[in-house]
Amino acid sequence: MPSNTLQLPPAGVIIPAGGIGARFGPALPKQFLDLAGLPILVRTCRAFLDLEAIRCLVVAAPADFVQHTIDLLHTHLPSSQTDRLHITTGGATRQDSVRAGLRKLPAEIDLVLVHDAARPLVDRATILRCLHGASQFGAVIAAVPVKDTLKKVSSSGIIEKTIDRSGLWQAQTPQAAQRPLLETAFAEAERTHFIGTDEASLLEAAGIPVRVVEGSERNCKITRPEDLQVSFALLTKERTMKIGHGFDAHRLVAGRKLILGGVTIDFEQGLDGHSDADVVAHALTDALLGALGEGDIGRHFPDSDQQYKGIDSLLLLTQVCQLMAARHYRLGNADLTIVCQRPKLAPHLAAMQANLARCCQVAPEAINVKATTTEKMGYTGRGEGIAAHAVVLVRSDHGSK
Ligand code: MG
Repeated sequence: MPSNTLQLPPAGVIIPAGGIGARFGPALPKQFLDLAGLPILVRTCRAFLDLEAIRCLVVAAPADFVQHTIDLLHTHLPSSQTDRLHITTGGATRQDSVRAGLRKLPAEIDLVLVHDAARPLVDRATILRCLHGASQFGAVIAAVPVKDTLKKVSSSGIIEKTIDRSGLWQAQTPQAAQRPLLETAFAEAERTHFIGTDEASLLEAAGIPVRVVEGSERNCKITRPEDLQVSFALLTKERTMKIGHGFDAHRLVAGRKLILGGVTIDFEQGLDGHSDADVVAHALTDALLGALGEGDIGRHFPDSDQQYKGIDSLLLLTQVCQLMAARHYRLGNADLTIVCQRPKLAPHLAAMQANLARCCQVAPEAINVKATTTEKMGYTGRGEGIAAHAVVLVRSDHGSK
């Protein structure tokens, strides 16, 4: 954790995601649309949850999509992030959704950031400027100076005048405030029936000064299909790929179950090891760790540790996939070769593929599992053990961190 977040008061985020975004068609609210392999809302939430200074994040979801929102975020975010996530029912307007979010914030939260669900490209530096700004000055919003010349145009399309753009800024989000100030602004708006299009307008109406801090041109709001294309181009341009290789071998012994790729195979011997000795899961896990530059399976799950004795190796693979997700990488594809003289593995390969794909949260086609003998040569050929090789390609699902 960088030291510049240590002195911040406990901060929470509200994502008003109650809108339906009719411009994208009726199928799904726009925050659920895919953006370069991840739903927009997942990217938005992750941008904040990557910061440990964010103690909790509340999504105010459309009433008909609360369960969908829960499922989506829990599928795509690691448990270290979903632990800080709350999902509640949003209201008819942005203001109602933020109010619903405010009610869900735990008492210890002193700083509140409100952020549009449809600004998934918000960067860490902008979030930190908002946090520090609100901490120091009370209330701030991210904003950028207006670049284009502005025209006041009549209803008949005639320019009436050119507006002096000096001092004009475009408001973005996050909009951040110390909690009592934001609560005062919302109470005041309720009393006066004031409806604002953002939180700053409520604060302004309540007489609370709001400063701007530097936003980012990248932090655009996805409101039209072409915004989605621009965001997609930005993300894919920054995408990186890494490869990894894994190899493992275990000895065949009597009195053990033979488990390969999570499938228990009927055979007179099984593989010996501290865990369930699933050589296929181990090779794949090692390949993923290799791609991430994270050493090997022994470093993460030492065989001196009793908690891993007899453990289902698919659980270890799942944990490494969570680590990969936290690093913003996803499995592109994997190719595995099991080296085994006996038993015949062909009937079990599809079940192994399905198990491994489930752990990695990819389609089964992304994981190829094949088996070969060594024509009775070597230790596998003599039936002394079974070995497995894996190669993987992992892709960052945004610019590299
Ligand atoms: Mg092993």
